[in-house]
Amino acid sequence: MSESALFPASRLEEAAGRAGAAGLDALLLTPGADLRYLTGYDARQLERLTCLVIPAGGHPMLVVPKLEFAAAQASPAAGLGLEMISWDETEDPYALIARRLGPVGAVGLADQMRALMVLRLRDALPGARQALASAALREMRMRKSAAEVAALREAGAAIDRVHARVPGWLKAGRTEREVGALITEAILAEGHVQVDFVIVGSGPNAASPHHDVSGRVLQPGDAVVVDIGGMMPSGYRSDCTRTYAIGEPPTDFLACYQVLKDAQDAACAAVRPGIPAEAVDAAAREPITRAGYGPAFIHRTGHGIGLESHEEPYIVAGNAEVLAPGMAFSIEPGIYPGHSGARIEDIVVCTEHGAERLNNVPHDLVVIGG
Ligand code: ZN
Ligand code: ZN
Ligand code: ZN
Repeated sequence: MSESALFPASRLEEAAGRAGAAGLDALLLTPGADLRYLTGYDARQLERLTCLVIPAGGHPMLVVPKLEFAAAQASPAAGLGLEMISWDETEDPYALIARRLGPVGAVGLADQMRALMVLRLRDALPGARQALASAALREMRMRKSAAEVAALREAGAAIDRVHARVPGWLKAGRTEREVGALITEAILAEGHVQVDFVIVGSGPNAASPHHDVSGRVLQPGDAVVVDIGGMMPSGYRSDCTRTYAIGEPPTDFLACYQVLKDAQDAACAAVRPGIPAEAVDAAAREPITRAGYGPAFIHRTGHGIGLESHEEPYIVAGNAEVLAPGMAFSIEPGIYPGHSGARIEDIVVCTEHGAERLNNVPHDLVVIGG
């Protein structure tokens, strides 16, 4: 996939226009997803300031520490026709930005900017109201382009290949940590450049949705929630959960798992342009509540995904954001009765015709060995 398709030059101009429409005189974007989204530059977040400056009316510039300049010039940002300004160790890059910007009334800062930089920019631009850059960028970033969807599809296929191998590693007698180490290796071997998280929650640990790994030894009768994800060379992320069982699980678990599977399907079936994000959450919650597991579904149904593992739109009660083609998010209902738990998670993309699943490993409970 070409970088110019993933990170088209037209985004800088569109961002400037949206900044103006949001009442901002400029966007100031330090390294992170916004900067990468607009330039393709995977800049490092350091104590030295790297900042993409996008005036609402005027030319964008990339302010870079001198020792990072070669890296910036080797990045896709160099092909976008923006001005690149390097600063010396003894220079004040905040003053430089203030000088170049001139008087400004309001600036949008990258949502993930460090407090250190937020406060120094406040000092350098006294009187400028500071707002979140997402006010200008969220609409752009939420609706994925065809190239972005293709990148997410690649990420989904890569993590699916890891899940396909997981049953071979889940053995009674092994610890969660040992299984986690094998999964970590496989995430990289299957095409990711970074492991974002590896959750192997067995037995009672399956009841903790954000469990990590531990020294707990897998035992016959355990349910094991495996939630894994990473970053592809494109910068786009994967995130997929499957639940496994070591030997035949108790019948009440099988009943609960069937309800969960129905809920995940119902939520996927509810996805279409024009409905609010919270309707997808409601669709997942309804069968779970009806079966009496409502209080055990303790988190939102999903989150957006792209250059970040968790981004807008959030699939949660109270979010009236209307779904549109190109929006990509997880659908991951879970039931956690306390002594055990289960979750099924796929990334889906909203299309004109409903949800396209980017994870395609079967949902049936995989029962391993005896
Ligand atoms: Zn999570
Ligand atoms: Zn996940
Ligand atoms: Zn997720």
